[in-house]
Amino acid sequence: MFKTIIEPFRIKSVERIRMTTREERERLVRAAHYNVFTLASDDVLIDLLTDSGTGAMSAMQWAAIMRGDESYAGSPSFYRFEKSVRDLMGFEYIIPTHQGRAAEHILFSIMCKAGDVVPSNGHFDTTRANIEVRGAEALDLPCAEGKDLASIFPFKGNMDVEALRATFKKLGRERIPLVMMTVTNNSGGGQPASLANLKAVAAVCREFERPFYIDACRFAENAYFIKLREPGMAEQPVRAIVAEMFKLADGCTMSAKKDGLANIGGFLATRDPALARQEKDLLILTEGFPTYGGLAGRDLDAIAVGLNEVVEEDYLAYRIASTGYLGEHLTKAGVPILQPPGGHAIYLDAARFAAHLAPLQLPGIAICVGLYELGGLRAVEIGTAMFGRRDPVTGKEQAGPRELVRLAIPRRVYTQSHIDYVIEVVAGLYAERARLPGYRIVEQAAFLRHFTAHYAPEQRS
Ligand SMILES: *Cc1c(COP(=O)(O)O)cnc(C)c1O
Repeated sequence: MFKTIIEPFRIKSVERIRMTTREERERLVRAAHYNVFTLASDDVLIDLLTDSGTGAMSAMQWAAIMRGDESYAGSPSFYRFEKSVRDLMGFEYIIPTHQGRAAEHILFSIMCKAGDVVPSNGHFDTTRANIEVRGAEALDLPCAEGKDLASIFPFKGNMDVEALRATFKKLGRERIPLVMMTVTNNSGGGQPASLANLKAVAAVCREFERPFYIDACRFAENAYFIKLREPGMAEQPVRAIVAEMFKLADGCTMSAKKDGLANIGGFLATRDPALARQEKDLLILTEGFPTYGGLAGRDLDAIAVGLNEVVEEDYLAYRIASTGYLGEHLTKAGVPILQPPGGHAIYLDAARFAAHLAPLQLPGIAICVGLYELGGLRAVEIGTAMFGRRDPVTGKEQAGPRELVRLAIPRRVYTQSHIDYVIEVVAGLYAERARLPGYRIVEQAAFLRHFTAHYAPEQRS
């Protein structure tokens, strides 16, 4: 056997990367107030801001786009989309939405009321926001290993099942309208949940007679981790593992911008006909008719094909290996990262990377600016800029719970030499980390400030 895992595709259409110099980038990032969200993407060499909607579609998906039927009602594109989801996940009622958060909005509008609690292994931020806007609480119950950045436990995305049972006993089932598992756990570092854990959580839900939902955004990556890491699963086809995962669930929400391999789209699924009827009524109000749900027919066709391509094992072997490759080489270069490498991203441990900076000096922002200036990389801070708070009365800044910088890998977009370049840039910045200046926020919005905030560096040495 050869040790090199090649990209299992050839490239027939390319996008030019506009090369820039370090001087140019220093000027551009200063003009962007040191916030990489404000940069024009044409000024970025390797864009690792997100893996959401940034993937490359296949020739078969582009062909499917041409086949898209734009009938308002009953389009064959919808039936192809519905069949792909049903063949994979087995749900009876499948409701298309324009992206994942629209599915969440519909689900929680119907199932959640003020005072409710929705437990999860780790809610994604749009999921949390859609629960909180109902006046309910989004409760994270990650397993103990999931809280330790350095632990190499294979299933750090697991839920703490005993904590879930204790929550049911304490609050009573009336206040818990549903339980959710995010696979893989995005907020927790793209870490997978095991099939055994999914089964244990589903069993607690059955015991207390409450629906079990899966936030399915990266279901295929999670299924492949189960195949690689869970005892007795190595010989199982990924499709069979996916079927086993979803057999446990009463429904799911999905962003097709992740493991749908599409640039837009999502869906909500359930087995409950009465709930599906309510969901479709709300869909018509906010998204569109139930056979398009805020999407064009061509988008539905692109997702129909993408869902079959994402469970191809050659694709998943390459996907997980290429993210792992970045993580392993950064680790070898001494760069502190959240271990083990996740499915869709590598998270730099910014507190250790820039250990000379306190959380309020925004070490994650310092690293993001540094990566852009040095090598034209765009990454995202997940730290005090994103999750810290300014006291509205005193104006005093409060640090976030942890300091991370995420390097998210778009699907089928970058080759190994791009990733080798990323490794060089990150390792290069790590070598000169002592020179990273601290940053402070000079302008911020009241909500989701990290998207638009202006920063300024402290005096550079
Ligand atoms: C991206 C994401 C969502 C929201 O999906 P959008 O398509 O961005 O609205 C929900 N949950 C998880 C885990 C995600 O990664």
